[in-house]
Order: sequence, then structure tokens, then C-alpha cells
Amino acid sequence: MVGKILRIDLGTKEILVENIDLEDELKYLGGAGIAAAIFTREVSASIDPFDGENLLIFSVGPFCGTAVPFCGRHFVMAKSPLTKIIGEASSGGFFGKELKSAGFDIVIVKGKSEKPVYLWIQDEKVEILDAAELWGKGTQESETQIKSILGDDKIRVSTIGPAGENLVKFACIINDKNHAAGRCGMGAVMGSKKLKAIAVRGTGRAVKNEGVLEATKKINELLKESALAIVMADSGTPVHLDSMASVGDVILKNYTIGRWTGVKKIGAKAMNARGEVKKHACFNCSIACRGYLEYNGEWVTRPEYETLGMLGSNLLVDNLEALIKWNLLVNDLGMDSISLGATLGCFLETIDRELMDIDISHLGFSKDQIWGAIKPIEKLIQMIAYREGIGEELSNGVKAFCSKNKLPDELSMHGKGLEIPAHEPRANNLSALDYATTSRGAYHCYEPMHISSYMNLKKEINVTNVPRFSKGEDVADAVKKIQDASEAYSACGGCIFGFWFLNELTPWVDAFNAITGQTYSVKHWVEAGENIFNMKRIYNLKCGNTRADDTYGSRFFTPLTKGGARNNIPPLDDLLQKYYKLRGWDTEGRPKD
Ligand code: SF4
Repeated sequence: MVGKILRIDLGTKEILVENIDLEDELKYLGGAGIAAAIFTREVSASIDPFDGENLLIFSVGPFCGTAVPFCGRHFVMAKSPLTKIIGEASSGGFFGKELKSAGFDIVIVKGKSEKPVYLWIQDEKVEILDAAELWGKGTQESETQIKSILGDDKIRVSTIGPAGENLVKFACIINDKNHAAGRCGMGAVMGSKKLKAIAVRGTGRAVKNEGVLEATKKINELLKESALAIVMADSGTPVHLDSMASVGDVILKNYTIGRWTGVKKIGAKAMNARGEVKKHACFNCSIACRGYLEYNGEWVTRPEYETLGMLGSNLLVDNLEALIKWNLLVNDLGMDSISLGATLGCFLETIDRELMDIDISHLGFSKDQIWGAIKPIEKLIQMIAYREGIGEELSNGVKAFCSKNKLPDELSMHGKGLEIPAHEPRANNLSALDYATTSRGAYHCYEPMHISSYMNLKKEINVTNVPRFSKGEDVADAVKKIQDASEAYSACGGCIFGFWFLNELTPWVDAFNAITGQTYSVKHWVEAGENIFNMKRIYNLKCGNTRADDTYGSRFFTPLTKGGARNNIPPLDDLLQKYYKLRGWDTEGRPKD
């Protein structure tokens, strides 16, 4: 079943259903790829992200809802209020599958409503409903209440929390209560449109045929050979703290130190020792990397690695109970824990170094109690979501906060305005080059560079293990190829972990061909990914990005003296020139046509 495009204008209340353009389908594979084509055609590079003309686009790819593993993903795109360029986020769970079952691959929301509303999509029946009673509510209560109002517990909901309503620049969108379309402030764009939520229920069936089943069988066989899949099935993403701290791929104290013993208290081992963890999965995933654990007598979602890193090791918080609580709090408020943690890290360093004239005692900090100070940090999280006091400035993210307060350049750690995730760029030159060049800014979710020196080979396009401190063309070559392939994979709609687990691309391409009836070779499929990548790059250049934006902050040009990343400085300028050449771009990083 190829879905349709649903267009909703919240200003005029117009609702339209369109077919997907065949040329877009052939050129950009599906979901997020086609969404990028529509976005770059229709959203002016000069508009403000909170302008009603900005489009908020939800999409699912051809894999979605089929037997192909990892196919429950959906993607969200808009011009980002944080970066002012193309913004993207993706999320797992069940919302995407439900959207597909309702018959839609793409939902485009334009305009602004005067009053809070939510969308109710029930197969082809689409309504814009009043959300006055939901406005101000957290994401958990919002979902519960929508299901109750509509009288169906099987409805799937994507919703913003108070942070999105208050236009916090890194507000996210939460679906199925604990899955986040986290990055680039997509929740703030939703809030600017006064759109509280999208509720969906569908009854359609996905494509099922011999080819799909064959490809699925092959993928499942390869999964059994994947060490990473086995580890992730056992312990989920928190295992990164146990396994990668020794190579320095963990954020510590706002990227200022190379070692911290507290890491051991907040990783997967500590979590498993704390009590039973019940596995759970997104739609159609046998790995089930996610977990529930008991907290205050209830089964709640386990924090993922990025949250443990950004709010834990980044702020030197080694209290697992606090991190479990904050994970629930941040989800309910609807904020990206990566940008939030980075912004908090920047603020803690600012007050620790007395770089700002601010009374820290009213926040609960004292000179000796800044890093790891649980109560004040929790208070700040609330203040940011509601933009109260210093929370107002912090709600704009690291780049704006540093600029407004004229803080030293090394504190302003971001790529194109997006805060750096919990993977240290000095620990792996592939990560560094990737952060500097992705179209979304410093992002790690589509391109798994931080593990590319250990696994994630792609045999058909000759991606082999590249030593993590290599300074040669092998780094630029691997980064380019993985970026292009993962762009194609994401357009098909898979969870990126599936892409990491397999060392082959052929089964994904076979699945894509079987679902769509097309006859792509691996080479052409990856080239389609490259087209999507270049299309986003060109849009960002129109927004004002230049060669100077291909970076991630001056701190990373000074080496750490301890830990697994010590003494390494990625030679970014040199790597960029190699990378531009391989991409066929000019020396300023501009695609030639
Ligand atoms: S690997 Fe984890 S995040 Fe990905 S689909 Fe499976 S359960 Fe969801």
C-alpha cells in the first residue's frame, strides 16, 4: 500500500488529500526523502521557523508497517527554530505504523491556528478538534485524555508538552508516551502552530509478498550474527556507558574531562543490578532494545543512553534514581534531553567559572555544589520548560545563550546551532567529520560514526573498519558513504539501529524493491541517498550556511589529557577538504549544481 499525502492548513482549516508525485517517489525513495523534496521546494529559506508558512511534516517510509524488521519509525521535518536550517527528528513506537495503516505516508501541517487544536485522523476521515482542555498538560496526561475523549485505547498519539507550547527552542514531540522525535525543536514548531497533538487510528494493511518475506528472512539471519544486536537486545542503549567509556566516547563534565568513575553507577550494569528490567519493543522489532523498570511502585520507561549521558555524566550526576525521575519529567514536559543536557552543562560551567553576574543561591547552587547538584538542576529543568527566570535564556539553547552573555567561545559547543550529543568527537575522527557536515547540525542518529571504527561495515560499498584516529582519506570516504546509505535507509523508514546491526545493504534494497515494485541496485539506492543529502545541503546554503558552519566548537580543538580520547584532535579542516572533494563539492563546500 502506497500512502497518500495529507495536507492540513490550520489557518484556513482546509484539508486536502493528494497522491505522492511519481517522480519524487522514483528519485527520493519514500517518506523522509520525499518530505525533504516537498520541504525544500515549498518552504522559503528566508522565513522564520515560527512563521505559519513553515511546514511541519510527519512521514513514514515504504518499510513502515510491513514484515521488514525495524519498520515502526516515523520522521518529522520543519525549519528548525534552533538552527534556522532544515530540522529533522525521528521516533519509534507505534504512531508511524498507525499513520501508515490510516493510508498516509506524509502529513503536512501548514499555517497557525488561533486556538489550541489537535488532529484526529481515522483512516480517510480527518478532523481538526478543539484542544483547549489539553493545553498546558504534560505529554502523559495529554495522551491519556485524548484516548479517553475519543473513546478508543488503541489510538496512537503524538503530542507536545508545556515546553512545545512555550516555544522552548529544543522542545520535542512525544508519541506512545515514551518515544521522542527529539532533535531540532520540532515540538516548538508544533507549538507555534497551536497544534497540541495528532491522534491516529488506521485499519489498512501493509504490502506483503514473497519478496518482502525473503528479505525479512535474510535480515533476521544476519541479525543472529550481529554482536551489536545481541548486546543491544540484552542491555539496550545504556550499555554504551559500560562499553564505550574506556575509549572516551562518553560526554563528561561538559566535555572538559576524560575520566569519571561515576559512569559505572549509571550504565546498564548498574541499571540491571538495581532490579528487574522488562524489555519492550517498537512495532515489529525482535531486538526490543528498550526497557521498563520499577520506580516508586510503577513500571516506567528506562532512560536511554543519550539521557543518561547528557543529564548524567555530562553534569556529573551519578544518582540513578534522579536520572530515572528526570527522564520521566523531561518526557512529560516534552524536551530533547540532548539539547537540554548540553544547555545545562554550559550553564553549570558558566556559574562554576563565574563567567556571569548571577545570584546562584536563589537557584539552590552554592560555590561548592554546582556539578551533580540534583535539586537545583531539577529546578532548572522546570524553569527552562516554562521559560522562567534564567530558564528563559536557557530555553534558546547553547549557541544563543553563549552569544547573549558573551561567554568564551569554547563553551559554545554546537554544530550549525544544534547541541553536540553524548559522543565525544575527539574519540573518533569519523564522528567529528560527521558532526561538522550533517544537514541537521551535530546529529548522531542517522549516521552511526562513533561505532564505525568497530563495526557497521557496509560490504557492497566498501566501507571497512577505519581506525578511529585515522587522518586519511579513509575517514572522509567512510563518512560520505555511510551518510548517503543511511539517508537512503531513513527514506525507507527503518530504525537506524537496524542499519547499524547489518554489515550489508542488499537485504534492505531487496525489501525496498519488493515493497515498491522498483528495481534499484545497491549503487542506485545509495545514489538516491546522496541526492537527498545534497538537496538538504543546498537548502541550508540558501538559509545562509557557509563553509564556516561545518564545525562543532573550539573546545574540540584542544586535546583531553586523560581517558580514551586523550591527545587526539581531529584534523577537521583537512578532513573537510578531502570530504568536499569526494562529494564533488567546491572548496567552500558548495555542491556544483
Ligand atoms: S532496535 Fe530499539 S529503537 Fe529500534 S525498532 Fe527495535 S526497539 Fe525500537
